[in-house]
Amino acid sequence: MDGPLIDPHGRAITYLRVSVTDRCDFRCVYCMAEDMTFLPKADVLTLEELDRVCSAFVERGVRKLRMTGGEPLVRRNIMSLFRSLSRHLESGALDELTVTTNGSQLGRFANELADIGVKRINVSLDTLDNDKFTAITRWGRLEQVRDGLAAAKAAGLAIKINTVALRGVNDDEFDRLVRWCGDEGFDLTFIEVMPMGEIGETRLDQYMPLSMVRAKLNESWTLTDIDYATGGPARYVRVEETGGRIGFITPLTHNFCESCNRVRLTCTGTLYMCLGQEDAADLRTPLRADDNGAALMDSIDEAIGRKPKGHDFIIDRRRRGPAVSRHMSVTGG
Ligand code: SAM
Ligand code: SF4
Repeated sequence: MDGPLIDPHGRAITYLRVSVTDRCDFRCVYCMAEDMTFLPKADVLTLEELDRVCSAFVERGVRKLRMTGGEPLVRRNIMSLFRSLSRHLESGALDELTVTTNGSQLGRFANELADIGVKRINVSLDTLDNDKFTAITRWGRLEQVRDGLAAAKAAGLAIKINTVALRGVNDDEFDRLVRWCGDEGFDLTFIEVMPMGEIGETRLDQYMPLSMVRAKLNESWTLTDIDYATGGPARYVRVEETGGRIGFITPLTHNFCESCNRVRLTCTGTLYMCLGQEDAADLRTPLRADDNGAALMDSIDEAIGRKPKGHDFIIDRRRRGPAVSRHMSVTGG
């Protein structure tokens, strides 16, 4: 088979997100338990293997690659993967190579990322308060992330801040975040907590619908709906006072599956066709089965052929456990 990847619901798959490692230097409370068990290294695809899978998807029409994790920038020698994948930017086969990061390593890598051809990055940051930052990330240091952001800005990277809305944790800081992003020239996206993985805390207590976030923001800011799209599921508004953009990702309150264009690869070569479903395809076995990639292509086709129509995340009082048993760090969001 060749040609573009079209799923059974007529959607073209043009966006691949790749979790390059399940490891992380933070332990965010909504993402990981403090005592996570990580994958044995032998199960994890090598950087060369990750390149082969990504390149197979690019060959089949994927135009956007996002590296995520775990924390992608803590994987050893990760820049060599970025560098090798950048050949697809140079050839014009790929529109965008990008990364979602917690920002802790940007001080080291921002210049190199920009040099490789990365134009925009997503940096996850839920608070501008040092103590809260430590409470949320457990192991992170806000100062290091702020230094990383400064390095990324100086390197000319466009920055979007991802903020998980956490009731009773950062809901008093939304205005401050909007102001700060406006001043810095960063876009800002709010995300709802998703019920993924056992994390040893009650997710219900943290969940805050973005309709509430928006209502709160409306008290201080003039928000105008705009048509801006980045290929992701966020809906955007412009903040008239700052000129900045705010996106809202609402997996729980708004079902955005009808325009889904993406699939997710884990660092073990498992392909998830939907973030909110358990079904997955093993690409590692076919990848390792032959060198010419034929078995891999067949498996990719077969997997896309069973991409589900959508997810059914739900946080309710009857179901206390996660809707999806794997942690977000497996697929990288
Ligand atoms: N470590 C990188 C980072 O934090 O940006 C990349 C991986 S992280 C899993 C990707 C995004 O998922 C982050 O913005 C994080 O806030 C978000 N995330 C993690 N667990 C989540 C959950 N249960 N619900 C909603 N978003 C979550
Ligand atoms: Fe690490 Fe990102 Fe998960 Fe936080 S959200 S624990 S930084 S993978």
